[in-house]
Amino acid sequence: MTVINSLVANDLYVDYVVKKESISALKGVSFHVKRGELLVILGPSGCGKTTLLKTIAGLLPIRKGSMELDGIDATTLAVKDRNLAYVSQSFTTYRFYTVYRNIATPLKAARVPLDEIDRRVHEAARKLDIEYLLSRKPSELSGGQQQKVAIAKALVKHPSIYLFDEPFSNLDFKTKTALREEIKRIHHDDDATMVFVTHDLNDALALADRVLVMEEGKIVKEGEAREIVFSLQDEVGLHPLEEGKE
Ligand code: ADP
Ligand code: MG
Repeated sequence: MTVINSLVANDLYVDYVVKKESISALKGVSFHVKRGELLVILGPSGCGKTTLLKTIAGLLPIRKGSMELDGIDATTLAVKDRNLAYVSQSFTTYRFYTVYRNIATPLKAARVPLDEIDRRVHEAARKLDIEYLLSRKPSELSGGQQQKVAIAKALVKHPSIYLFDEPFSNLDFKTKTALREEIKRIHHDDDATMVFVTHDLNDALALADRVLVMEEGKIVKEGEAREIVFSLQDEVGLHPLEEGKE
């Protein structure tokens, strides 16, 4: 059986220019994500995780290197032409919209017919067990519920890849554990392709099919979750393994 790659990154270089000075944030990053795989990229703060996800999403230009999505050259493809969903670490809901309208936003933007929007919003809300929250405003939700809304907003798009940028950073242990299970369930039930970046070793252990380790704009290690996590547990800048004690 041939393995199909959802994403191939070839030697990516991405820079930021600040006051005419160039800061190199990705320094030759190469990796692939197989279709249906949940890849965790683990690395300390500042190593380039967000830059990498934004580059995949098409939000940052690539200085050198190339990228393929589902076998098609996507190096300069417009954001709207990549069917990707980005779930960020901060809650990115619209305060004045109901939960329903928040979840429906990406579909409205894509001009999906209203009955189809309704069907997909309810389907996503049901999967995350938040149907009873659809008429509330985000301010009437807990942090965990808000993050579920953000995940539902990704789900409705039926994206070819989910990009998770440390989505549990602001959540307590219990909520984090529950949401990891939700993400695993979606990954499993929908055969979804996911890239999850984090500095939390426990995310890698709980979620990953495979782990890449990132340091200073480069991928430095690749392997199976347990083996990688135990080799890294004393590294500075990574969330240690004891959990549930906070
Ligand atoms: P991470 O998500 O792993 O914490 P980032 O991708 O946010 O790392 O940052 C990688 C590097 O790029 C850091 O050195 C950071 O300071 C720098 N950087 C990130 N965003 C910007 C920006 N908008 N302008 C200039 N430098 C940035
Ligand atoms: Mg980041």
